[in-house]
Amino acid sequence: METIAVATRSHSELVDITAQVQQLVTRSGVSEGLCLLYVPHTTAAVTINESADPSVKADIEMMLDKLVPWEGGYRHLEGNSAAHIKSCLVGASEMVMISQGQLVLGTWQGLFFCEFDGPRKRKLYVKLIPDKT
Ligand code: ZN
Repeated sequence: METIAVATRSHSELVDITAQVQQLVTRSGVSEGLCLLYVPHTTAAVTINESADPSVKADIEMMLDKLVPWEGGYRHLEGNSAAHIKSCLVGASEMVMISQGQLVLGTWQGLFFCEFDGPRKRKLYVKLIPDKT
């Protein structure tokens, strides 16, 4: 298992981690297989979406804020239930195929680490699973 360190700078933030994950794949020498991304934090998540136009991640952050407002009469005493709920909605893991040593992503797709109660220093676990030959 590999770990990628992610430092976020704002309260809610999507961080493009595509290049870092590809670097791990390249260094591992895995040519064909699967790449599992897993976030071991309850206010963070990982997702795949458009990385070409940065407005898209800004829109995702904005709409998640509208869907799950920070103040919502929540019961959790820590006061960050909105972040926990967003983490559930976006999800703690993603699986990406590896082919010819490259992550299989669409032209406009990138991998994003999402933090909803930052800024924080976080970890992303990466498990590379080579095909059996
Ligand atoms: Zn909490």
